[in-house]
Amino acid sequence: MRATVMHAAGDVRIEHVPDASIIEPTDAVIRVTRACICGSDLWPYRSMQPSDKGQRMGHEAIGVVEAIGADVHTVKHGDVVVMPFAISDGTCIFCHEGLPTACKHLGFFGNQGNDGAQAEAIRIPYADGTLFALPVEADDALMPSLLTLADVMGTGHHAAVVAKVGAGRNVAVVGDGAVGLCAVIAAKRLGAERIIVLGRHPDRVALAREFGATDVVSERGAEAVEHVRRLTGGEGAHSVLECVGLRQAMETAVEITRPGGAIGRVGVPQDAAMPGSQPAFYNNITVGGGPAPVRPYIRELLPDILDGRIQPGRVFDSVVDLNGVPGGYRAMDNRKALKVMIRP
Ligand SMILES: [Zn+2]
Repeated sequence: MRATVMHAAGDVRIEHVPDASIIEPTDAVIRVTRACICGSDLWPYRSMQPSDKGQRMGHEAIGVVEAIGADVHTVKHGDVVVMPFAISDGTCIFCHEGLPTACKHLGFFGNQGNDGAQAEAIRIPYADGTLFALPVEADDALMPSLLTLADVMGTGHHAAVVAKVGAGRNVAVVGDGAVGLCAVIAAKRLGAERIIVLGRHPDRVALAREFGATDVVSERGAEAVEHVRRLTGGEGAHSVLECVGLRQAMETAVEITRPGGAIGRVGVPQDAAMPGSQPAFYNNITVGGGPAPVRPYIRELLPDILDGRIQPGRVFDSVVDLNGVPGGYRAMDNRKALKVMIRP
């Protein structure tokens, strides 16, 4: 079968690899019908050291179950399933507590040697705990939005939950990538009235407004902080959703949070130490977040997608086949594409 392999920064290839197959009795194999390229795939795309073996890429997919191991009970041949980005057993204490991204058998697809979903098929470890069966056909018109349940919609929702978004709270979203835009959807869905998006790409902030953003701040650094303060009576936002992961984004997030407010951080941090640690301390700001437990969030978000109340699939502005994947990385890297969908 064919799969996406990254060999070094800027070097993404489509290669022939051994067919995905059942290895453990808890495995399933899915034929990938939709996958995509994530903003977080761009970190290795910009920095990966050359590797002969390479890394299989892709951690977001919808597929059809082709085979299951003897110990798989919740999905069956032919089911249409969404594959969250994390492998989880569904049985350990953290999975029971709703945090499968702390699972005792945690793994991340398309990372650390694990198989990736930008491929014709993929082996799914712990299929019962990892996969979520969808009540739709493989060609459903809602596929783009359903695909966001694998990562970006659940991740934006996580930022909102951790930042305690609710009615009567001012919300600021740092970042206008796919996760930031989904965070706007999540904030609106959870009852926020004022939603300020910090972003500077005209198409993206326009989409943010359609998703429910009430204000756009396109400055950076101190000017952005000043603008958000002006919009919030000089106090800052109650809930700040940090969806970038770079130093300046986190520093800005801390500076625009109201004393006593909360930050939900879901951008993969690119610094070992937390930027803004001291102002966060002196302003009693709650800082939380991490890899989103997207699988338990599917149950909550799926009805809104099926009913058309939210349309996170609008973040996809480009569709490619497997041959188009290297070009898809280039387009996202130079910001010609917001988020690329793959139809293998
Ligand atoms: Zn677990």
